[in-house]
Amino acid sequence: MAIGVKVIEKKKRTALEQMYVPEIAKGLIVTSKRFFKNTFGPEEKKEIATVCYPEEKREYPARFRGIHRLTQRADGSPRCVACLCCSTACPAQCIHIEAAEYGEDDPRHGYERYPAVFTIDELRCIYCGYCVEACPCDAIRMDTGLHMPPSTARDHFLYDKDTLLNLPGRDGTFLTANPRHEPGDPTHPGIDREKGH
Ligand code: SF4
Ligand code: SF4
Repeated sequence: MAIGVKVIEKKKRTALEQMYVPEIAKGLIVTSKRFFKNTFGPEEKKEIATVCYPEEKREYPARFRGIHRLTQRADGSPRCVACLCCSTACPAQCIHIEAAEYGEDDPRHGYERYPAVFTIDELRCIYCGYCVEACPCDAIRMDTGLHMPPSTARDHFLYDKDTLLNLPGRDGTFLTANPRHEPGDPTHPGIDREKGH
């Protein structure tokens, strides 16, 4: 079977194109127009694809998963109970938690633990959000709207407990809107010292 072949003639260059100089001049005119428009023109007419980061920042979409934060209770302590659900769910294995017991004089003693160490390696993190989904206490969130500041030091990307606790959410708060029922409160739904389970 014969195959139809469409022959496309190569466009011949004109004498002006063949001289190159007029074409170079045309290109320079386009470049100069853009230069003057973007340097001296009104702000709304500029067509610059780059921004002068970090002085200038683009606004991220509302659904952007920023770096993590650990939410606080009303007294400033972490909501985290060191259950390890987040570190277990983390596919990048970049969360390191060391659990500790509250002191005997603390009403949370025997009910909850707290993270003595809580570190996230933000460079290994793949920003999947599984840790946030896995947390039963709304203790870890990715709603800061921030991305990691650049650095040349590896350990600057290891975010420890204090750093994570002191990062606010987009709304500027360190808390969450979800209510928390502390052990000993009448609203606490779990075990009770007198009644047990
Ligand atoms: S966002 Fe994903 S990869 Fe990053 S710490 Fe959470 S679970 Fe791990
Ligand atoms: S952040 Fe949440 S899931 Fe992770 S250890 Fe704390 S309470 Fe558990």
